[in-house]
Amino acid sequence: MPGEAEKADTERTRPMSKPTVLLLNPPGDKLYIRDYYCSFSSKASYYWPPQDLLALSGILSRDFEVRVLDAIVPRQTPEDVMAAVADPSLAAVVFTTGTATIKNDLALMAGIRAARPDLKIAASAGIMKFIGRELLEKNAVLDAVLLDFSDSGLAAWLAGAAPPLTGMIVRTPAGLVEGPLSKAREFAYPVPRHELFPFRRYRLPIARRFPFTVVVTSLGCPYNCGFCTAGAFGYKVRTVDNVLEELRALAGLGVREILFQDPTFTINTRRVIEICRGMIEAGLDLTWSCNADLHALDEDKMAWMKKAGCHTVSVGIESGDNEMLKKYSKMITVEEVRAKVARLNDHKIKVLGYFILGLPGETRASAEQTIALARSLRLDIASFSVATPDLGTRLREEAVAKGWIPAAASLWDSSEYPVLETGGLSKEEIWGLRQKAMRSFYLRPSYIARKLFEVRSLRGLQVLASNALSLFGK
Ligand code: SF4
Repeated sequence: MPGEAEKADTERTRPMSKPTVLLLNPPGDKLYIRDYYCSFSSKASYYWPPQDLLALSGILSRDFEVRVLDAIVPRQTPEDVMAAVADPSLAAVVFTTGTATIKNDLALMAGIRAARPDLKIAASAGIMKFIGRELLEKNAVLDAVLLDFSDSGLAAWLAGAAPPLTGMIVRTPAGLVEGPLSKAREFAYPVPRHELFPFRRYRLPIARRFPFTVVVTSLGCPYNCGFCTAGAFGYKVRTVDNVLEELRALAGLGVREILFQDPTFTINTRRVIEICRGMIEAGLDLTWSCNADLHALDEDKMAWMKKAGCHTVSVGIESGDNEMLKKYSKMITVEEVRAKVARLNDHKIKVLGYFILGLPGETRASAEQTIALARSLRLDIASFSVATPDLGTRLREEAVAKGWIPAAASLWDSSEYPVLETGGLSKEEIWGLRQKAMRSFYLRPSYIARKLFEVRSLRGLQVLASNALSLFGK
């Protein structure tokens, strides 16, 4: 038994316990995906973790005890969140949000603030770049917003540093203080604490294996397609070593499948090849998919990606009408789309095509061209969204300037009914075309036969049936 003096020595030398921070993906009435740049409800029971909370789990773990409550996938309730924040050791809540859910998320934060006035509360989402200051002005419940989750400002603020802090707007007694954004084009962060997230429950229809999770290797996009918000964030990349370190850790955790969730993973040939070569040399047992821009996909990249375990790429095709592609700076033509998709087919890399219906200038004829293009390409999956004037896009500027939406409007979900009527097609017509696109793509006998032929197990059949039900169940 230690004596009193020894006990006192032990107390003095015991490391002080770290303050606890809760990273919260708030609950919702639907399977919401808060995907940093945009938020929407899952169309086909797929679900992955928020990339900002993943990165913060590693960054904050250096100085804090980090807890994660990803309330969406286990369908946890606001009451579950209130129970979690009752823990007196908790010092702060950092939550992720987006346009599809922000009203409800702020209502939940008001409840948390009422129960725990001592907690620091900060919000993260791509939209903070555009409306973060306004949100802070209108919502006293928020203490701060993050403008860039990869920066170290949040950790400094939670540790008590005074603003201005990099990548944040912070409320102070003297008013709101906005810190600068980092200008570095390359960055690295500590390996995200994937083990704190319920990664065994994440689902992706295109995943070959499970468990599956998300890795981010770059932020923003150097292009500037008129309907997409990613171009407004500039472009910066994680170092290749830092990415490979995270992939090795994930393989060690038993993760078997990765989605590289960069807005577009394939921009820089040398970097893509270095990551692929690193994965091969490390002998990582990982299969993967990524978002890719078709015009930057060359033969070299496709070959290395396939060799390193890539089985599917998700590409923005958007429209079957060259005039629409040109209007929105897509930098690819329908003819190039056909050629690149065929090369991907040759490399045996599957293709998920994203299409948008109802952009300004859309006519019934151009929408029909889009539907025909989707049917004519050998795509594994096609996703048809309706045009949404997201914050930070040229589409939004046009929509406000032409009076199609009020300047203050910002809340929508691109999986849902159209919010934009541009004088061409009505909302009903756009929605009707979207439903027609879904039916005519997925209910083709040749597509159904191909999908059934690919099923290799009872589980595969279950996934197929569940996706079909989700797609056509509403
Ligand atoms: S290439 Fe893709 S991610 Fe980049 S701006 Fe265009 S649509 Fe957005």
